[in-house]
Amino acid sequence: MTDYNGYIATDTIEGAEDGPLAGKTVAVKDNISTKDVQTTAGSAMLEGYVPPYDATVVERLKDAGATIPGKTNMDEFGMGTTTETSAYGAVENPVAEGRVPGGSSGGSAAVVAAGDADLALGSDTGGSIRCPAAFCGVVGIKPTYGLVSRYGLIAYANSLEQIGPIAPSVEDAAELLAVIAGPDERDGTTRDARDNGTDYEFAAAADGDVDGLSIGVPTELLDGADEAVVETFWDAIDELESQGASYHEVALPSVEHAVEAYYVIAMSEASSNLARFDGVRYGTSGSEATGGSGDERSESAGVSGGEGNWNESFAQAREEGFGEEVKRRVLLGTYALSAGYHDKYYKKAQDARAWVKQDFDEALSEADVLASPTMPVPPMKRGESLSDPLTMYLADANTTPVNLANLPAISVPAGETDDGLPVGLQLVGPAFGEQTIIRAGSALA
Ligand code: GLN
Repeated sequence: MTDYNGYIATDTIEGAEDGPLAGKTVAVKDNISTKDVQTTAGSAMLEGYVPPYDATVVERLKDAGATIPGKTNMDEFGMGTTTETSAYGAVENPVAEGRVPGGSSGGSAAVVAAGDADLALGSDTGGSIRCPAAFCGVVGIKPTYGLVSRYGLIAYANSLEQIGPIAPSVEDAAELLAVIAGPDERDGTTRDARDNGTDYEFAAAADGDVDGLSIGVPTELLDGADEAVVETFWDAIDELESQGASYHEVALPSVEHAVEAYYVIAMSEASSNLARFDGVRYGTSGSEATGGSGDERSESAGVSGGEGNWNESFAQAREEGFGEEVKRRVLLGTYALSAGYHDKYYKKAQDARAWVKQDFDEALSEADVLASPTMPVPPMKRGESLSDPLTMYLADANTTPVNLANLPAISVPAGETDDGLPVGLQLVGPAFGEQTIIRAGSALA
């Protein structure tokens, strides 16, 4: 294990002899199932869990000749922005001492930034590929919803998340995306890019040609951002302008509600997805679990307070197996979905989501891509945000709207602050417009 704690485990998985990724190492986030190799999603709940099958993306990596050098550390179940909620210890930022690497795919970004893997896979529910890419000074792509199969991904919030690449350059990220993209009969939400007027020639799109590119800058995503970040952002826009792009301001009034809507939807879906981790169906059972044989189950189901009842053993398994942030979200998500509150929170959040989608459609009818800082702040100091979850949630202001709208986005290094901290530029494109954001991003990295 590396000293910045980027890997949870370093079991090597060899792929086919030839293929587009032959000779390359691709680290895989630990919420993506690998046959016969432990997959924990950063949770003590799944310590020792060995999936009997590969996720579709892992199958595709192997077919493409990649070697998987290990499973990367992450916030527990993908819930976090700093990779400090992992049950396997926090990850340090290998390029910014004393700072977090971003999250939740912090391990994936860190091992690429440190050169301990050529490439990596992350997953992005509300920024978890783009945030760590930005904080570690590398490239990350959150694909259009449905471009990449989620089969074998340990679900956090199904309607929002996508697996995507993290790489040192846009071209490398595009190459990896081409390998994992495309429909999968085992994931009914996947779509064929060819039915959407495009194809999978992502690497060829990384030609750096931004002549005539029209960039929309949503002012709402600059308001409230850190000054040094905004300065670095404008430097990157100036650079694109000097290469022939132009920019104008656009409005996304709904994004003011995006973080709230995102957290209601993500926590609601999480509370439902995580119900299966009860120590019986999935997950380790609590140390003094009292559940036992099927007979006991029928005798004691629903009985509270007695010895040997299932409620108690489920509760104990969940009490011991889940960390604090996961518990917080399961509780809040369950509350938001409960009778009497469903309309007040969940339905409202869905309305906000529709509004966000509409705003993006409108803004993208006047521009080829939308640009903003990926994160409104530079990498936080380690330990800073753990005691203040709300501040941590607000750091997702620029990334979560994109997941609500199901759109593709890339984070490329925009430069550094005067203190030498990496800043990411986020470029958002229309649905299945991966090639447009790849082309634009490749002018910078
Ligand atoms: N930081 C966000 C959250 O905690 C995003 C996580 C993610 O994309 N998996 O939910």
